[in-house]
Amino acid sequence: MVDVHANSNPVSVPAPSPAPDRLCTGLSWFEEKPALTAVEGGDLRLKALSPGTRLALSWSGRRRCIGWTAPGTGRTPCAEDAEIGGAATLAQCPACQNRDHGLAVARDRITDDGRSYQLYLAWFAPGMLKVGITGVQRGVARLLEQGAIGYTVIATGTLPAARRAEITVSASGLAKERYRSRAKVEAWWGLPETEGLRSALSEGRTKALRMLADHTLDAFPDGPLVDNTTFFGLGDGAPATYREVESLDDSGSLAGEVRAVIGKHLFLAVDGGTPLLLDTRLLAGRHTVPIADDSNGIGVAGVRTAERRRPLLYDTPTLF
Ligand SMILES: [Zn+2]
Repeated sequence: MVDVHANSNPVSVPAPSPAPDRLCTGLSWFEEKPALTAVEGGDLRLKALSPGTRLALSWSGRRRCIGWTAPGTGRTPCAEDAEIGGAATLAQCPACQNRDHGLAVARDRITDDGRSYQLYLAWFAPGMLKVGITGVQRGVARLLEQGAIGYTVIATGTLPAARRAEITVSASGLAKERYRSRAKVEAWWGLPETEGLRSALSEGRTKALRMLADHTLDAFPDGPLVDNTTFFGLGDGAPATYREVESLDDSGSLAGEVRAVIGKHLFLAVDGGTPLLLDTRLLAGRHTVPIADDSNGIGVAGVRTAERRRPLLYDTPTLF
């Protein structure tokens, strides 16, 4: 949105300074802490989202492309200020998607970038094992961003070596390269599953490293098996009933208390209603402003939701 300041009255009193307009760029994890990120002018703004914090913001105007990022240069704004559809989970136009380094690696368009990569197994639920790679410099950020309930790093190597290993493991059927967000979210009702998590990661690692024995990788046969169930606030599973945000209108507001942050999803307690599940990718590309939050019925506006209920299957503690 371009602000046009009519200048018809040169001696007018200064206009009250508007609340700062920020282009929300989504949720990122910084050293195991989640924050909503926004750019304001050239500055990056962070809103920490730990459980217990309050989130209160409004947005308005057309949804815009958030630009692209690359190592070393950070974020470059979209040259076209392209418009993005309200329900898209990726707030980047095709041109920015093409320039984005992380997407290029994910889409196999970069063969080697001279950096070191970690090969990991991530666990989302019984039967949902994923194999993936992430830059060593990124630490565990990628694993937290995708909401890996459990994970273990099984090897490191160059990008071509790590990618070849990833393809080998996924081709064997041991683990997949991706799971849909919906499947991951529904699996939260079946948590916790501590033993299943540990045994799947441990057995998966043994099998994966066996099939990668002749690959040029530094193998980690004894790395830690990380269980994020409690860290993500899923020690008792997901709420039995909640409303999931499906899309945001061109303008609206949200106010509530953050109950849990799982990957890029937030469970939000809102005044007088069922908990809300928000995929923060829907906020990316929105011009947001913080709003006063006096807990007095600001509530939720301009948000389309659907009710989700835990199926009976998950109410049965032991099936076998
Ligand atoms: Zn763009």
